[in-house]
Amino acid sequence: MTIQLPEKVKFIIDTLTDAGFEAYAVGGCVRDSILGRIPGDWDITTSAAPDQVKHLFAKTVDTGIQHGTVTVLEGKEGFEVTTYRIDGEYQDKRHPTEVIFTQNLIEDLRRRDFTINAMAYNETEGLIDVFGGIEDLNKKVIRCVGSPNDRFTEDALRMMRAVRFASQLGFTIEKHTKEAISKLSSNLAQISAERIQVELVKLLVSDHPEQMRVVYETGMSRVFLPEFDRMMETPQNNLYHCYNVGEHSIVAMQNIGNDKILRLTMLLHDVAKPVCCKVDQEGIYHFYGHPSEGAKLAREILKRLKFDNETIDRVSALVLWHDDRPTLREGSVRRAIHRIGLEQYPALFEVKRADTLAKNHYKRQEKLGFIDLYEQLYQEIMEKHQCLTLKDLAVTGNDLIAIGMKPGKEIGESLNRLLMHVLEHPEDNTTEILINLVKTQQKFE
Ligand code: ATP
Ligand code: MG
Repeated sequence: MTIQLPEKVKFIIDTLTDAGFEAYAVGGCVRDSILGRIPGDWDITTSAAPDQVKHLFAKTVDTGIQHGTVTVLEGKEGFEVTTYRIDGEYQDKRHPTEVIFTQNLIEDLRRRDFTINAMAYNETEGLIDVFGGIEDLNKKVIRCVGSPNDRFTEDALRMMRAVRFASQLGFTIEKHTKEAISKLSSNLAQISAERIQVELVKLLVSDHPEQMRVVYETGMSRVFLPEFDRMMETPQNNLYHCYNVGEHSIVAMQNIGNDKILRLTMLLHDVAKPVCCKVDQEGIYHFYGHPSEGAKLAREILKRLKFDNETIDRVSALVLWHDDRPTLREGSVRRAIHRIGLEQYPALFEVKRADTLAKNHYKRQEKLGFIDLYEQLYQEIMEKHQCLTLKDLAVTGNDLIAIGMKPGKEIGESLNRLLMHVLEHPEDNTTEILINLVKTQQKFE
């Protein structure tokens, strides 16, 4: 097995070995190289102590010196060089209380989470694979190094990492490893929301967002996204659906591009259906009001998971409008764009398509035809650069003051009425016409 190491990685490994130490590329970069994937970063593991590493290279940064990690800078690129270590006791299910450095590579590989992440490589020794990493890559399985119970008890985040790697690589989680997750999933409560968020996003934007099913089956979502459990438990007996709410949302994620905002939107677009669910006398399920309740709930959930405000705003807006259907004439579409916000387009069309394609075939062509026509009208409006917001209006508050209106609330109201007029009659968006409308005080809506 040969792996093509980047020149800079070779240089770092050679410098360390020439000084009498051992050094290997390790972890994710070895795994990804063998799989023919492009590694995100190249990590190096070495028998040299952190101060010995610092001594050998011109530019270094103490990234995690207490854990033995020094970043070596080569040009603009940084490479994490970590001293062989054994993790001591874990107290908070996340951080080892002490780190013991060792001279033995195998000891270092033993502390790593999964067999496929516990391989090392350099050009003299070739591949070091003592835990069956290659075999598991071939079998496409995620398996813990050693006892899964012990590994997940030491660090609960590893359980989310297991599903995240399964999603990214299209692998399955090996039986004992999965059983241990089911048993220990409640320990995830001790992991910070920020760290869970990182793993969740990697899972959602991967090629296999359907792994959310495993997050549910193993009991992990119950800890950090119990709303998803409710979705998986809510059937939809009506004309339009063929899945429960959770399964429908999973399929909707599979129907949309691997973008964070879009995948989070599809995950949460029906999040309020369980709380809005009403069953009528015929046993038919209705979910009136679920978009607006869903927008509120999505906001709450994303906040709890410590997402940034921009993500929270965008996802909750798309959840709010996912089922909005304006009349398909130009004026109404311009009003819809104004109401919904230009920034939600064209993403909203993708959301609507993904949602429709995750339902049964009842009226599917009709619904897709509606979305196509909606999008076509939107595009025509955009191409004509028509006025859609107060900012595009041919008059400003100052223009109204100049013709004698008193500064205050009235100005805002007049501008809004002008905008409503222009959304219906775009050809009237000239200073002259609008000023004239205000002056003559005629009803202009
Ligand atoms: P990615 O492509 O996401 O960077 P990666 O495998 O490189 O994947 P990192 O989080 O960068 O993952 O970690 C680098 C290596 O460190 C892993 O391959 C694994 O060997 C080890 N590792 C990282 N986190 C843990 C953990 N929580 N428990 C045990 N080993 C870990
Ligand atoms: Mg990495």
